[in-house]
Amino acid sequence: MKIRHAGLIALLSAGALTLSACGGDDVAEPVPGDAGGEEVTEVGDFPEGSTMAELAEAGEITIGTKFDQPLFGLVGPNGEPEGFDVEIGTMIAAELGIAEEDINWVETISSNREPFIESGQVDIVVATYTINDARKEIISFAGPYYEAGQSILTLASNEDIQGPDDLAGKRVCTVSGSTPEQNLLENYPEVEVVAFGAYSDCIDPLKNGQVDAVSTDNVILAGFAADDPELEVRGDPFTEEPYGIGLAKDDEEFRMWINDVLEASYEDGSWTQAWEETAGTVLPTPEPPAVDRY
Ligand code: GLU
Repeated sequence: MKIRHAGLIALLSAGALTLSACGGDDVAEPVPGDAGGEEVTEVGDFPEGSTMAELAEAGEITIGTKFDQPLFGLVGPNGEPEGFDVEIGTMIAAELGIAEEDINWVETISSNREPFIESGQVDIVVATYTINDARKEIISFAGPYYEAGQSILTLASNEDIQGPDDLAGKRVCTVSGSTPEQNLLENYPEVEVVAFGAYSDCIDPLKNGQVDAVSTDNVILAGFAADDPELEVRGDPFTEEPYGIGLAKDDEEFRMWINDVLEASYEDGSWTQAWEETAGTVLPTPEPPAVDRY
């Protein structure tokens, strides 16, 4: 499933004019005039040849996100994805002078994130995407902008599973190409891992008893549990999953610029506001993590 919007000429509202987190020089100049009282943003304040300049000039961006994960990236009844990752992507687009309606949202599942970035099918991925060294061999990451950890979801009625050590001999559903899958396969050899394409595919099998548990990041599981009193998240997180924004490998200028955008959003409160309006409706509001300018 793909959601694409025709690229419109970027007539941006005054609210989208705060274009830069890099310092005063990059702030777009409003052009007086022809938009019926609206100010029009002039692009081109980014270094020539940079990804930022290219995207700003194109007036549109393609962002990969999850379409099936409550709180982070979920396509709602209106057909648009919603959630914290969607807010982070929208914030980055806005800093490029790209309005919400000019964002092309593309569904990325766990296993196709690196290929989609490598092939240029997406400009960035914001999709509960753990930063790690293996992935950094293929793509680059800005961030982290959130820190999750692997956890377990079971039926509320199942008292047997309270933490990862109780998973031995159990059927545990997770997703191909994810870090939780890799962790279970490498470090919990007694677990019978059942891997699907997306986490939402695990929920029916859990409810009808085909699997005993679902395992992935605590905040993804919390989103499913929040919608369903039959489900419960069990135990403390047992890994660290720092969420990054995936982009083309070695595009250091773009990576550092996104890090600037994140840091500015920490400072001006927009990160907290984005959290509170999405994941924060269910989860406590954390301090934003320090970005890693590797
Ligand atoms: N954060 C983990 C990962 O990037 C699990 C969540 C997901 O699959 O999106 O693999």
